Amino acid sequence: MSQQLDPTTKVLDKPIAQWVEEFPKLQELIDLQPSTWFNPNVQPAAQALPDVGLTREDIDDAAARLKRFAPLFMELFPETKKTEGILESPLVAVPDQQAAIGERYGSHMPGQLWAKLDSELPISGSIKARGGIYEVLKHAEDLAIEAGLLSLDDDYRILASERMHKFFSGYKVAVGSTGNLGLSIGIMSAALGFDASVHMSADARQWKKDKLREHGVHVYEYESDYSVAVASGRKEAESDPTAYFVDDENSSTLFLGYAVAARRLAGQLKTMDITVDSEHPLFVYLPCGVGGGPGGVAFGLKTEFGDNVHCIFAEPTHAPCMYLGVLTGAHNAVCVQDFGIDNLTAADGLAVGRASGFVGHAMQHLLDGFYTIDDDELYRLIALLDHTSNIDIEPSSSAGFAGPWRVMQDAEYRDRMGLTDERMCNATHIAWATGGSMVPREEMRSYIEKGMALL
Ligand SMILES: *Cc1c(COP(=O)(O)O)cnc(C)c1O
Repeated sequence: MSQQLDPTTKVLDKPIAQWVEEFPKLQELIDLQPSTWFNPNVQPAAQALPDVGLTREDIDDAAARLKRFAPLFMELFPETKKTEGILESPLVAVPDQQAAIGERYGSHMPGQLWAKLDSELPISGSIKARGGIYEVLKHAEDLAIEAGLLSLDDDYRILASERMHKFFSGYKVAVGSTGNLGLSIGIMSAALGFDASVHMSADARQWKKDKLREHGVHVYEYESDYSVAVASGRKEAESDPTAYFVDDENSSTLFLGYAVAARRLAGQLKTMDITVDSEHPLFVYLPCGVGGGPGGVAFGLKTEFGDNVHCIFAEPTHAPCMYLGVLTGAHNAVCVQDFGIDNLTAADGLAVGRASGFVGHAMQHLLDGFYTIDDDELYRLIALLDHTSNIDIEPSSSAGFAGPWRVMQDAEYRDRMGLTDERMCNATHIAWATGGSMVPREEMRSYIEKGMALL
């Protein structure tokens, strides 16, 4: 595909050849080569956090809302009883995965590799259980309070009553998704009684659609990619005053739901006696689709750990939308297809051609770097994780595991950030494993077999 790209083709009135001249890394993206770019425009957290337009108090508010809903969760989803209705995922060390990847890449990685298993989040088995579910809860709370049916100090289990179910059934919730956001929003909306519609892009796996239909959600299928599915959801909701559209490209509510993850992670690190300070840096590698999930988590991490955390986004070589947007500074004014990149990837959760403009603008000075990884490597990392650590995840979810080696390959970046050899020896690296526990067993087996065959 990229071979057919005409360098005189214009994007935003500028020939592609000139874009590449201004941003040489762009050539690697166009060539679908695995690429790494450490952001020269990263700023100290204290300077860049105010640009986000959201604050630590906003995250406090989101965390408090989730707490109010915890009793209701235990009632609606008994699997959440063991965590008192709080949806949270384990943080586990994966030393054997670290050794296996080190062997594969021919270089030992100093520091320790951990996995944050959002793949095991209750209800929808992915990172979308953070933002997606949170936004449905916020909307339900707003409606119920406005109607005089709920106050903040009520026992939220009343929301599971017949009467409330009937009330919510008069309202619609719509969303466009590559799969997991639809799964989270559809299941949560249906559980409360909302009339839920999910507009699914062509990437969405069949089992995700089947599962939603089992829950009574309307699933619309499109032959096209994520942007079209989102536009359809937006259109459906526009003309209907009872409808609420969850805007994955622009929602600060979703973003705050994701951000709560960071303070929970801070608690987990503390419990495990893991120090994070300037001598003990923390690196977090986040698979990125439209950017809301990783952006929200990174925002939360920066409010918790400031300059001692380094956030790095990982994308498929065929869908590097956030890398492209931040590199060029053109954000959502450009999409990967403008540059002949096809947005076709086995990483369905990351198959997004145009990044969130909101997240790109908000986070461009807080993210240390971006890299792309090819689909075959995603499968290899899945197989290695299964083999070394007995943890099973989906293709979108494994992209973060390559991250520490990208950091180790770039001495210029480490020097610039003061990441000395000694500090790298003390470093904690967390690959955010964003989804997978709900993948049907047969499908998971095929991922692992594919990865094994490629190794
Ligand atoms: C959606 C998703 C992501 C990325 O989240 P965005 O908000 O789209 O950037 C990563 N991993 C999985 C498994 C996902 O479903």
